[in-house]
Amino acid sequence: MQPQIKTINLLRLSSGDNLALQVYQFLGKKTDQKIYIQANLHGAEIVGNVVIKQLLDWLISLDEEQLFGEVWLVPACNPLGMNQRSHFFNSGRYNSYDGKDWNRIFWDYDTEKEDIYHFAKDHLEADHETIYQNYLHRIKTRLEENIQWRKQASAVPYSVKYQQVLQSLCLDAKIVIDIHSSSNQGVDYLFTFPGQEAMTQNFLLDVGILVNQPKGYTFDEAFIKPWLSLKKVFKNLGRNLDLGLASWTLELGNGMSAKSDSVEKGVQGIKNYLASLGVVKVSDFPLTHTEKHPLQLVTKNQLKEYYAPTGGIVKNCLQLQTNVVAGEVIYQILEFNKKGKQPEIVEVKAEASGWIFDRGTNEAVNEGEYVLTMLEKEGNNE
Ligand SMILES: [Zn+2]
Repeated sequence: MQPQIKTINLLRLSSGDNLALQVYQFLGKKTDQKIYIQANLHGAEIVGNVVIKQLLDWLISLDEEQLFGEVWLVPACNPLGMNQRSHFFNSGRYNSYDGKDWNRIFWDYDTEKEDIYHFAKDHLEADHETIYQNYLHRIKTRLEENIQWRKQASAVPYSVKYQQVLQSLCLDAKIVIDIHSSSNQGVDYLFTFPGQEAMTQNFLLDVGILVNQPKGYTFDEAFIKPWLSLKKVFKNLGRNLDLGLASWTLELGNGMSAKSDSVEKGVQGIKNYLASLGVVKVSDFPLTHTEKHPLQLVTKNQLKEYYAPTGGIVKNCLQLQTNVVAGEVIYQILEFNKKGKQPEIVEVKAEASGWIFDRGTNEAVNEGEYVLTMLEKEGNNE
């Protein structure tokens, strides 16, 4: 099966060059279910591009009859962020025009203050497809109105246009998968939302972070939040509504790196998930041990970030995934001074038990700079 390939212009540069997106669309037998997968929204988080290349090869090797739905793949989804450099390094997390995080710019339909209550009341007895299509139509109409603003003579900042282009691409998807990585050195895990817990295991990753209260401005949250709001209103009216929508952010490995084991985990997880959904019919997925895969489902408040209590050089920082008990030394800082004394070692101890989840790449830290994250054991915060 070959994909349809579409190129979407994003940004005309002063030099006359264009930055663009390229979308690979695989259209299967039945096309009522669209899966949207993008990578590299944060400039340094390149791993997902390699994952997408492998998914592309995999889908090309299948017959049309094996795909029940559409799969859209968008690698290198933020060219401006991906190409940004300082010396040899890519930050690419923030828009250099306004300093905003590229993954905090998305439009939240909920902020339009639409009357969902009356929509739900009017659709209380309606079938799933009618509810889905009518609600989607409302979201689409609002986004389209916002897009019309862009077309006036005064135009809009690039980040607004960019946000609208990406959201237009995924708005009518049933499933959104946004592939990120740590900015530093991290483990492979994913973010999940209420109602999707049962499918989280199908990605075969070891840790899932459940976002109970999405704020709506990250890509994954902006997609799912209006549907979660609708579900809540239906529930208050006495109907349990499951339209089969889901939003995921995969976090695979390190920044500025496409570590092969993180790539492999991402590819295997997405294949297994698509096969579990029945979108792809293949003989080798879903894996038989999927249900037994050990998944640690945690909440965001179990992640404790540690910041340097003083400036210096980080030494003997524990490796990723090391188990730690409260009171144990997790790293040291070699602290220099301008008081005519020898440099000293400052020890930093774990506040609670858990394991090392993420650690900074730069071992020179100013006071208050990020050093590491611990995933604390459940109950540490209570
Ligand atoms: Zn990211």
